[in-house]
Amino acid sequence: MSVIWSVAAALLAVRVYREYRAGLVVGLLVFSHCVLDFISHPIPFSSFSWRSWQWSFGHSLPPDLPLLFAGSPKVGLGLYNSISAVKATALELGMLVLGGVVYITYTVRCKRIRGAQLG
Ligand SMILES: [Zn+2]
Repeated sequence: MSVIWSVAAALLAVRVYREYRAGLVVGLLVFSHCVLDFISHPIPFSSFSWRSWQWSFGHSLPPDLPLLFAGSPKVGLGLYNSISAVKATALELGMLVLGGVVYITYTVRCKRIRGAQLG
């Protein structure tokens, strides 16, 4: 399903932006989300306890990402089954900061190039 969603998103982006590069970027973005989901799921956020700052279920959750449609075998490496809530939060915030740095670096460079072209 990851490949199907990625191709569908890429085709939609090409149609909206009328640019193949936009399709490639959006397609890769969707696929990377699926890869990260595969590593991290199942995510026990719904069983989080604010009082103990821990996953309150106390046992590993089974894989929850269907391979195709509902009823198909489920997958997921379950990263959050093996790390604490504090480590998971640090990881999530780290990924957010990393994404922000990549975005800001890219947009600043684009503006600089555009500024140089305008003279
Ligand atoms: Zn997801």
